[in-house]
Amino acid sequence: MQLILMGPPGAGKGTQAAELVKKFGIPQISTGDMFRAAVKEGTELGKKAKACMDTGALVPDEVTVGIVKERLSKADCANGFILDGFPRTVDQADALEKILSDLNMKLDRVLNIHVPAEELIERAVGRRICKSCGATYHVKFNPSKAENVCDNCGGELYQRADDNAETMKNRLSVYEASTRPLIEYYKKAGKYTEIDGRQPISKVTADLEAALR
Ligand code: ADP
Ligand code: AMP
Repeated sequence: MQLILMGPPGAGKGTQAAELVKKFGIPQISTGDMFRAAVKEGTELGKKAKACMDTGALVPDEVTVGIVKERLSKADCANGFILDGFPRTVDQADALEKILSDLNMKLDRVLNIHVPAEELIERAVGRRICKSCGATYHVKFNPSKAENVCDNCGGELYQRADDNAETMKNRLSVYEASTRPLIEYYKKAGKYTEIDGRQPISKVTADLEAALR
């Protein structure tokens, strides 16, 4: 199963991708996670990405497309994948078509998690992530049992540097200008399903699974 999970920043893509990974046993490919790992390791890629991520701008398409191409070529993607946070521009979507056709793959579905803009800042600002296993929490909507401690592995939770109101405003305007046009792009391709992301996490998961049946 070859999937794209789309939606604005903070819509719940990462949260839902984790559920779909468990259910379908295919990898989640999050360009944001890959960039954050590169920043942490201090690689050349990390240096290029950091400046963009700090302001909420997009990392240039040629950099992003390159890492996705490399990742999709790995053996664990042969039975499918869940793209999370990619593509984010029409040029990235065109590049993805080319990558998939070179690998003899094709997209099955594009699932868009819809959440209105006014709810997204609160979601991002309250997001907490486990330093060890990457599990995602929210201080109000999905709190860990003990404050700042991961339920899964006991790891310490942290807040992303770009999860502040000011950077989020920029990320949301970048989404409107560059990523929203992909809704029409995938509607035209006949692969698009919209899911109401304002519902509780488990209900969003159920709707996503129903859309994939
Ligand atoms: P994305 O990957 O789309 O940026 P995340 O999955 O990281 O979004 O979710 C953003 C924040 O919103 C997290 O703190 C997460 O716990 C919370 N969240 C995710 N889904 C829901 C939901 N359905 N209702 C309320 N909060 C949610
Ligand atoms: P995310 O984890 O999806 O919220 O992404 C965090 C940041 O990483 C974004 O604000 C961008 O700076 C960068 N990023 C992630 N995915 C992409 C992409 N597909 N294209 C360009 N930049 C990206």
